[in-house]
Amino acid sequence: MTDRSPLPPGSTIGIFGGGQLGRMLAISALQLGYRCIGYAPAGDNVAAEASADFIEKHWGDGEALSTFAARCDVVTWEFENVPVTAVEAIPAERLACGPRALEIAQDRLAEKRFVEELGGLATPHMRVESDEDFAAAIERIGTPGILKTAREGYDGKGQWRVDDGHAARGVRFPGQRCIYEGLVDFEAEFSVILARGSDGEVRFWDSAANTHEGGMLVQSVLPAGARIEAQVEEARALASRVADALSYVGVLTLEFFATKDGPVFNEMAPRVHNSGHWTIEGAATSQFENHVRAICGLPLGATATRFATIDMRNIVGKQASRAHAILAEEGEPHLHLYGKREAREGRKMGHVTRVGARLP
Ligand code: AMP
Repeated sequence: MTDRSPLPPGSTIGIFGGGQLGRMLAISALQLGYRCIGYAPAGDNVAAEASADFIEKHWGDGEALSTFAARCDVVTWEFENVPVTAVEAIPAERLACGPRALEIAQDRLAEKRFVEELGGLATPHMRVESDEDFAAAIERIGTPGILKTAREGYDGKGQWRVDDGHAARGVRFPGQRCIYEGLVDFEAEFSVILARGSDGEVRFWDSAANTHEGGMLVQSVLPAGARIEAQVEEARALASRVADALSYVGVLTLEFFATKDGPVFNEMAPRVHNSGHWTIEGAATSQFENHVRAICGLPLGATATRFATIDMRNIVGKQASRAHAILAEEGEPHLHLYGKREAREGRKMGHVTRVGARLP
């Protein structure tokens, strides 16, 4: 899509996926006078509560996809594993941007290759499609490392840590295409989150320092500290090249390891991102609002950070049942609960953002 004329208030945004990202996107869309229709297979689609309508059909239901497309003025996604075929069922002029970004981000090998071709440094890695490939990867890259399924892994799922040769013998190739990555000795983790408008304008939010546990983000903190800040410029330049190469429209996230050799690319998400939830209260314009603005052809909002310190933590699993107690804490914490019915262990149920002094 190129330079879109602004969608008037009352227009309808279609969102593929029904999770918390879609819910927060729909809340921002409502505020700007738009309405949302979601589309995802039946499940705990918490975006439905914030949407004018929600279509619960399979990704491959051609008739339902046509109905969805016909009812929407623009279509986007909140989930990067939406099958590309579902996106391709939407007429190109209704798509906020083409499915190439999704196609690349759905495959860990493809995204690393894409970023390397644009001059980025990716984690050391090898394709693994058999036990022999796995042995060869251990031989070449060494241990410690991580075997990851090339597709469909998230929040540490589909990943097996390999500490040494002995541990490697205990890990079986899972029978689907994988990637073996050397464990990067990083100093810190951060993400670059940008919004790109349909006219090609790019704006970045400040990068937070991210902490993961068991492969899942638990906390994002600003300021990110000197080690990260020294590497943000180089990481942003790469993220810009990625966004331009994809003619991307909306919010795009690239995750990096800050290492002594500079920023090492880990993965990308062509969507709003958990490490950007702090922007709801912490930035002049949130990632959700700027995604809506970008896909609807509105001017992007300022991304400046508004507070001297910001701390975003995820609320996971059963922590959610006690989350309202947070509201009694000092410092006016900002609580967001996603309305998920089942508090499964390790499931993201909400987040809380605590902010410090307001910046002038
Ligand atoms: P991913 O699913 O690839 O984003 O991995 C989730 C988290 O696991 C990362 O944010 C890191 O904390 C850790 N991790 C994944 N791959 C690597 C790696 N190659 N080296 C070091 N840590 C990693």
